[in-house]
Order: sequence, then C-alpha cells, then structure tokens
Amino acid sequence: MRWLCPLCRRLPWTCACPPGSPVTKTTSGGLWAAALAWHEPPWSLFVQRLKYGEETFLAEWLGAWLSSALEVFPREVALVPVPLHERKLADRGYNQAALIARASAKKRGTKVLFDGLVRVKETDAQAQLSAEERTKNLASGFAATRSFAGLPLIIVDDVVTTGATSDALCDAIVKAGGTVLGVVSVTLARPIGL
Ligand SMILES: [Zn+2]
Repeated sequence: MRWLCPLCRRLPWTCACPPGSPVTKTTSGGLWAAALAWHEPPWSLFVQRLKYGEETFLAEWLGAWLSSALEVFPREVALVPVPLHERKLADRGYNQAALIARASAKKRGTKVLFDGLVRVKETDAQAQLSAEERTKNLASGFAATRSFAGLPLIIVDDVVTTGATSDALCDAIVKAGGTVLGVVSVTLARPIGL
C-alpha cells in the first residue's frame, strides 16, 4: 500500500501525524532556510525514497506537512522549486522539489512557478540561452528565462545542505528582478555544533 502515511502507516484520512519540529538556519549566502526537520531518520529516509526510489507519493505527505514550515511567510508569496538539469529530469522522470512544492501549494492555496528558471551548469544547456543570459548566469548554475520583476518568491527544495544551490538560484532570481524571502525544504543538514 504505497499511499500509506510514511510515519504511522495509516491511510490519509486516519493519519494525524505531526509534521516534524520545524528547524531553521541561514545558508552560506545569507538566505533564511526553514525545514520540517534536520536531515536525519526518518525524514532523511523519506527524502531519499522520494528522490531515488521513485516513491513520488511521498511528496504528497511531505509537501502537505511542509506547509507548516511555510506559515511564517505571507500566503500570497509564490513557491519556486529548484529546477533539475534537463538531463537529470529526463533520467529521473520527475523533479522531487516540484512535486513537494505542488503538494505544499495545494494545501496552502498558493501559486507555484514551475517555469522561468533553468539549470545551466552543464554546457549543453547553455545553448538554449542568449549570449547575454549565458554570461550573466554562467557562474551561478541557474538562469532565468523570464522576468521576475516585483515578484517575491520562496524557494522549495527537498534538502538543503550548505544552501549553495538555493543561493545560486536566488542570484538568478534577483538578476531577473525578483526577490527571495527564504528557502523551505523537507530537511536541513544540521549545522556543526547543533
Ligand atoms: Zn501518519
């Protein structure tokens, strides 16, 4: 029964599991990051199963629970999942961050922006961009393909380690005129000493 709650093994309508104990830290680039829990079992296992085990149903649970970590942000602020490189997306068949963001937004009644940002770390993806975009974004690993002018956004990912990925995505959004209020993920790597 793949759709059972990963914590209590009950059906959705009988599960009353608490959504973890939200934790926060600051990324190396200074972004405020919040998550359901530190990257430790059982949460780290759910992230791995979702990411590498094709257990996409987990995004429904994790995304819905994640809306509790999003409570600190205004409800109007749209979510933006960290994009996968197109080749990785083709291999995996889904972007786990996008699935989490979709489930979370559904629970919250918020919008998700699935388009407008691409991962450009690998050189072949650069071909899709204009020369200007290429130069602008070469260093960051992400490029915006639309304007984000006047748009406050929240980045959504499955796990945040140092936060370098979110920082790079934030750079691309800011270069395209947007602002990033923070990053929300299922788990956060526990800072040393905590
Ligand atoms: Zn449960």
